[in-house]
Amino acid sequence: MKHLQASEALHIILEAVRTPGTEQARLEQALGRVLAQDIRANRDLPPCDVSAMDGFAVRSADVANAPVILEIIEDIRAGDMPRNTLAAGQCARIMTGAPVPPGADAVIRVEDTQEISASVVQINKAVKPGNDMRLRGENMFIGDVVLTAGTEITPGVIGVLATVKAAQFAVYRRPRVAILSTGNELEAMDEPVDPNKIPDANSYALMAQVQALGIEPVLLGIARDDPLELEQYLWRGLEYDVLLVSGGTSVGVHDYVRPTIEKLGVIMKFWRVAIRPGHPLAFGMLPPTKVPQVDAVQGASREPTQAYLEDRQGGEQRVTPQCAACGTLVFGLPGNPVSSMVCVEEFVAPALRRMMGNPRLYRRTVTARVAHEVKFCPGRTEFIRVQLTRDEAGYIASATGTQSSGVLLSMARADGLLVVPANSTGLAAGAQVIVQLLDGTAFQDEIGFSE
Ligand code: AMP
Ligand code: MG
Repeated sequence: MKHLQASEALHIILEAVRTPGTEQARLEQALGRVLAQDIRANRDLPPCDVSAMDGFAVRSADVANAPVILEIIEDIRAGDMPRNTLAAGQCARIMTGAPVPPGADAVIRVEDTQEISASVVQINKAVKPGNDMRLRGENMFIGDVVLTAGTEITPGVIGVLATVKAAQFAVYRRPRVAILSTGNELEAMDEPVDPNKIPDANSYALMAQVQALGIEPVLLGIARDDPLELEQYLWRGLEYDVLLVSGGTSVGVHDYVRPTIEKLGVIMKFWRVAIRPGHPLAFGMLPPTKVPQVDAVQGASREPTQAYLEDRQGGEQRVTPQCAACGTLVFGLPGNPVSSMVCVEEFVAPALRRMMGNPRLYRRTVTARVAHEVKFCPGRTEFIRVQLTRDEAGYIASATGTQSSGVLLSMARADGLLVVPANSTGLAAGAQVIVQLLDGTAFQDEIGFSE
């Protein structure tokens, strides 16, 4: 298979994505989910014209020649209903949010008045009709669509949902994601430190990337570079909507991941993408009819992990019709920790966000000036881990040290990924660049850079 450009690979992945259906969410648990239905206003809000200030409700014609003296006929507090209609020469003391009484057409704030007695006030300012009033329906009218399907639920959206009394509503389901590390050299978290081994960082780094999207993945553990053992682990992983396998996808004689995935029925869509780091990325799909549904794992040579067993116990959800219709998306990620994280950022996360119905698939990008020269990497889109600082002219991006794909600290220190297009001939210090922000929760619907 040929080396794909990053955009071609992303296109193939996004084409393959199906959303695993919808479910009901309660308002209290909905932050970060995506609405799968339109939400309409259930009343006019405000329900009538109300005061925007503490002050006096007046007839604007009465105060045209301010200062004038008016009679105070009642006090109206928020939550009260006015009892009287204002006649000429009358006003009502009114609090913010209280209904403006019939006859009144404006509010004068208390700072522009002078109280003479409990029943008489001097109004010092002329105002136009509608002054300091919030008109009926200013927020919404009954029946208005106030939120559309596809809206990501932020705290502001939660406030609107509460306003229309939507205690429960349809959201997109979150895909179920399994993560598998592979390699004889890997040492699990609970194993004693062996100086000849490499700690399994990927399971946890990838887990955290998936968690950051609001999905709780299942860690399947570590499969050794043994075709049979790998097969058993992969078979478990294929029960999920998305399987992330790191390591073993390259061209080494013990890189069994791709042939084994194919043996299990996964149709490989591509292998190798013209990016750095992360080029041995592989992507395939298991057709829905082949997704293992029940205890398909037989004769596993290692015990299944606790996380897997716990997930299986609450696992009936997996076999919902919507879900089974999706098949399994399989990402064969490079073993180098930075490479696998970059691949998750660039390819897996957009797919997961689309599965969750979110139209904003991509990290927010900013423009910056690069602090130093950048050598080019012909034909590949390069992602450089950078720290961002600011001066009066904007952001400055500086590499976080060595860009070796094995050095995770450079990722830990990064605020963003500077994108060097594949057709770049190198960058001089001070050149304008695009940086994808790695922190925060802000996403955008356009990718923000070209190859
Ligand atoms: P591979 O893609 O299997 O050839 O692995 C490439 C490099 O990444 C090797 O140096 C591996 O030791 C390392 N590596 C693979 N998997 C992991 C992992 N889960 N955690 C940390 N390093 C890994
Ligand atoms: Mg390996």
